[in-house]
Amino acid sequence: RVLRDNNIDLQGYIGKGAYSKVQVGVNVKMGSKVAVKVIDTSSGSEYVRRFLPREIEVVRNLNHANVVKVFQVLSMDNKVLLVEEYGDNGDLLKRIKDKTRLTEKESKPLFRQLIESLVYLQSQSIVHRDVKCENVFLDANDNVKLGDFGFARFLRQNEISSTFCGSRAYVAPEILSGVSYTGFTVDTWSAGIVLYVMTTGVMPYDDRNPKKMLERMLSHRVRFPRMELSTELKTLVFEILHPTSTSRLSYSLICSSPWLHDTKYEMK
Ligand code: ADP
Ligand code: MG
Repeated sequence: RVLRDNNIDLQGYIGKGAYSKVQVGVNVKMGSKVAVKVIDTSSGSEYVRRFLPREIEVVRNLNHANVVKVFQVLSMDNKVLLVEEYGDNGDLLKRIKDKTRLTEKESKPLFRQLIESLVYLQSQSIVHRDVKCENVFLDANDNVKLGDFGFARFLRQNEISSTFCGSRAYVAPEILSGVSYTGFTVDTWSAGIVLYVMTTGVMPYDDRNPKKMLERMLSHRVRFPRMELSTELKTLVFEILHPTSTSRLSYSLICSSPWLHDTKYEMK
């Protein structure tokens, strides 16, 4: 009913996350598709108590071409609904799986747009903390839209976090090791993993054994599968995946790196 009052006509399910179900809907007034993320709040889980209020606070003001826009936040009995911009072309993981891996040429504009989204978030003092291929959506023109702000929060300069969040395979070593961490470069690390996964089709670290995984991360060794990959790409990935959070490449250095600097993408 709440949705009908807001001119939204719900259609089928498109996805299921750990804390939500996502349905596609149509805004009948605008004639445009929306994604409706339905969060059941009756469980009173840690996510609902701790992270959902932050997610709502963060998403209310997002306004960038490469970030999923949240048009409305509606609450009703035991449910919160986030009405979001719809990613017609699905998420990046699905794209990679369909093709085994993306070519470097295909990867460049996508990765650049992911970095643009992170530059914007940092300018808004937001850390995302769950950057991964499943949370990078593609619109009908394959423009990147970073979504799922379920672990995001505002972060003041030098403020310390100690919450373990994100997905183990993408998480920075300072989070994995359980010490407190500062700064936005936890997202830089995860973006580096996304770049690796995009271009190789496999994960860089075996996350079944977190202790071994952490050792490998801290030794700053990045192994690549035997496949044709440019030295420029491998160097960039290596420099992003620096174990020391303050030594990771800045976003502007990433954009001016030999692998990425000559790409200009235009929003279609
Ligand atoms: P969770 O916090 O539960 O992981 P997500 O926001 O990541 O929730 O949504 C779960 C899944 O639903 C996604 O992996 C994706 O498949 C689908 N989905 C979510 N938002 C959108 C969107 N805006 N456009 C298209 N698909 C979406
Ligand atoms: Mg998700």
